[in-house]
Amino acid sequence: MSNDWYQMTAAETAAALNTNPTQGLSDTEAATRLQQYGPNELVERGGRTPWQIIVEQFTGFMTLILIGAAVISLVLGDILDAVVIMAIVVLNAALGFYQEYKAEQSIAALKRMAVPTVRVRRAGRVREISAREVVPGDVVVLETGNVIPTDGRVLQSVNLRVQEAALTGEAEPVDKDADLVYDQERALADRRNMLYMGTIITYGRGEFIVTETGMATELGNIAELLQSVDQELTPLQKRLDKLGKSLALVAGILVAVVFVLGILRGGDWEEMLLTSVSLAVAAVPEAMTAVVTIALSLGAQRMLARQALIRKLPAVETLGSVTVICSDKTGTLTQNRMTVTALDIANHRFDMAQKPGEEGMELMLATGESLTEAARPALTLLLIGGALANDATLAPDETDASILRAIGDPTEAALVLGAAQVGMLKDKLDAIFPRVAELPFDSVRKRMTTVSKVPSSRADIPDNLEAVWEIRPNGDLPPYVAFTKGAMDGMLNVSTRVWVEDHFEDLDAGWRDRIMAAHDQLAQNGMRVLGVALRPLDQVEKSPTEGELEHDLTLVGMFGLIDPPRPEVKDAVAICVEAGIRPIMITGDHPLTARHIAKQLEITDNNEFITGQELDRMTQAEIDAAVQEVSVFARVSPEHKLILVDSLQRQGEVAAMTGDGVNDAPALKRSDIGVAMGITGTDVAKGAADMILLDDNFATIVAAVEEGRIIYDNIRKFIKYLLSCNASEIAVMLIGPFLGMPLPLLPLQILWMNLVTDGLPALALGVEPAEEDVMKRPPYSSSESIFGRGMVQFIFFAGVIMSIIAITAGYFFWHEGDPRWQTILFTTLIFAQLGLALEVRSEKNSLLHIGLFSNHFMIGAVILTIILQLLVIYVPFLQNIFKTNALTPAELAYCFGFGLLVMAIMEIYKWFLRRRDAQGKATA
Ligand code: ADP
Ligand code: MG
Repeated sequence: MSNDWYQMTAAETAAALNTNPTQGLSDTEAATRLQQYGPNELVERGGRTPWQIIVEQFTGFMTLILIGAAVISLVLGDILDAVVIMAIVVLNAALGFYQEYKAEQSIAALKRMAVPTVRVRRAGRVREISAREVVPGDVVVLETGNVIPTDGRVLQSVNLRVQEAALTGEAEPVDKDADLVYDQERALADRRNMLYMGTIITYGRGEFIVTETGMATELGNIAELLQSVDQELTPLQKRLDKLGKSLALVAGILVAVVFVLGILRGGDWEEMLLTSVSLAVAAVPEAMTAVVTIALSLGAQRMLARQALIRKLPAVETLGSVTVICSDKTGTLTQNRMTVTALDIANHRFDMAQKPGEEGMELMLATGESLTEAARPALTLLLIGGALANDATLAPDETDASILRAIGDPTEAALVLGAAQVGMLKDKLDAIFPRVAELPFDSVRKRMTTVSKVPSSRADIPDNLEAVWEIRPNGDLPPYVAFTKGAMDGMLNVSTRVWVEDHFEDLDAGWRDRIMAAHDQLAQNGMRVLGVALRPLDQVEKSPTEGELEHDLTLVGMFGLIDPPRPEVKDAVAICVEAGIRPIMITGDHPLTARHIAKQLEITDNNEFITGQELDRMTQAEIDAAVQEVSVFARVSPEHKLILVDSLQRQGEVAAMTGDGVNDAPALKRSDIGVAMGITGTDVAKGAADMILLDDNFATIVAAVEEGRIIYDNIRKFIKYLLSCNASEIAVMLIGPFLGMPLPLLPLQILWMNLVTDGLPALALGVEPAEEDVMKRPPYSSSESIFGRGMVQFIFFAGVIMSIIAITAGYFFWHEGDPRWQTILFTTLIFAQLGLALEVRSEKNSLLHIGLFSNHFMIGAVILTIILQLLVIYVPFLQNIFKTNALTPAELAYCFGFGLLVMAIMEIYKWFLRRRDAQGKATA
């Protein structure tokens, strides 16, 4: 395909690509092209192939040692041992492969889900499809915040500005213009009529025709360079890796001791070598990093079920230690279902109510006064302005065409609906007053302006809009009128006049006071207040600037919009507070509006708030102090979010921060957990986030935190369990000889335990349900090691207890000269480990309290392990391999009884923990 699209007009490009600029491709054509060009994606290089995973299973240090041991056995003629060791190696590898492959797949699935959607024209309609399905010739509709999905030729541009750093390294956005055509060669960075994959729309909107997709794009060309392998270990995994290495060292020393002891006692070389190797394998928890990955990706899946999409695995872990959640108000704490409920113009205030039982249409001006003729012109201008300076559209409901719905930004949709309710339909208005220029909304200015052409004769203005006729600054209708709508505080600064009933008046101090009072009245009741102003214009530039348009405005009036809180948020806030997590509200809205909602949701119980302006004037120390006290930040811009995150982090908090716009990206990146809105969020915000809220809901963040805590707990539990088991096996081998016994466990028995008794219950601990206090205790400090809070002591204690119990059980039989002592010891140790597995399910609570059967997987794992052990004891073939003997039922019960002792001891230990807690609380 040609690469000089920038030398063609948009129409020529469309023709060359055989597409219709207004209709887009037909569905069949799009499907054919998808076949022909393949999906629009860059070739992934991050993930591992199944083969790589298999190879990794056999190249682990310990596996290699085991294979060595098998070879030694073979050379020494011990074929059975060699075969069994190899069988264990293969079984282990199969299990490891299965687990890692699954983890890999679920991570890949999460990645796929995070692929953005794109709005394209297909068969004459705008449709939302996955970015993967975009094909050359597609007409894509773009707006601020989009990451451009492919390369293409600009077809339409309105103030379109694009940041192309991904491609050119240039951070300053460049203007794009559909009408430009170059007749000479131009470097990539200078093609102002082209858009490239991976670049970002920072301003304006437009459409473009897709020219190249996937690896054929400019980004695809350099993709090889960009493919960063983002298989980085999470902090926890890194710590475990380190732990594994130190344990290997310790294990090495212990193994050497056992080896020497064995030789001194006259054991044979081969036997001792195998024993040492098995013990080393047992001691080093080399599978633990993998198990953690599995636990984390399982956790990510559970979070997904609760509407939180994890983009980066470490977030699962970090979520558990979040101490502050900074949340946007609009749409996250509230429903983002705005309704106009008040209209305020000079001297008059109307409340808008819906007729009971009716969806939408009719307007009732309620309370106070009825619609007098004097108020009509101002009211009409207010509604016209609100609907014209507006990008929402009206459309009949999909199922019931008699109901009109507004589509677009909820604030704007409310205004369009409000106007429609009194018979002013947005599309009719647009036809009478066509838009010729605009300044889009941004969250710093907090307003937007559109310029409309005014009909030149009075006859072209319908009766119900004749208020427009009153705008005659010099006696004639102006050719253009600009409408600005936005936050009142800013609008007052750029206004010089006020519209009173049917004429202009100077905006003097008296008017200012009256307007501000009226504004505060609305905001205090939790309403979002939007002002509307107008300005007659004699001429207008194609791309006007803020300086040209937004000054000397005439205030027309304001809308009060109600956006009710989400019903579930109040509870979620309460859960946060109980869990020691502080919710903070951050909003672009007015402080009075913000405070009203914050109090309603019990985010704050005081009247304090801080505005963006105040933040700008504060020193770092003042900000730090304020952030500790105040939970409502209003009239802030996205840059302020960065200031807040920095302050929180300076003070050791682990902060989650929500965001949806392009400008929110830096704060999302900087925060510990960047949270993007799934519905209203821009691609840029989503790309910068660690987690995406599929339902935009604050309660979902809290749910994710809860899952994060559960996972963290569970990881602790299985580490505790696995290491205690390993410790018990080593301790048995060390203590036995000291009592004069031969080495208690045979190599294959150790390997068996390591594979079976440790593995199954550990996996079951990974899906242990939440502890009942999981959201009733403060978060664990993020600097605390996962091995903190007595974990090391616990492992030592539990390991020694289990080994003493097993050795004692075996000792009596050994003392009597009964050859079955080894089977007894072996079986008792396994029962003891199973008992421990059940007990570590809860850190402090009794097993009876949490219920024996509350983790089905654990019950399954325990039963399965017992059955396997019985097979080892009773099936002759396995007896032969594991050198076991059949036990009588009484002897089995004897082992079982010793095993139960572990549970009894653990129950007592936990009882002490609980008592200590209760005393701590009593004295506190
Ligand atoms: P939030 O953080 O609550 O989402 P925004 O940054 O979206 O706040 O909005 C901040 C202020 O900007 C609002 O209080 C309102 O006055 C004004 N505003 C919001 N949306 C629009 C819009 N579409 N057009 C004009 N002004 C708007
Ligand atoms: Mg908003």
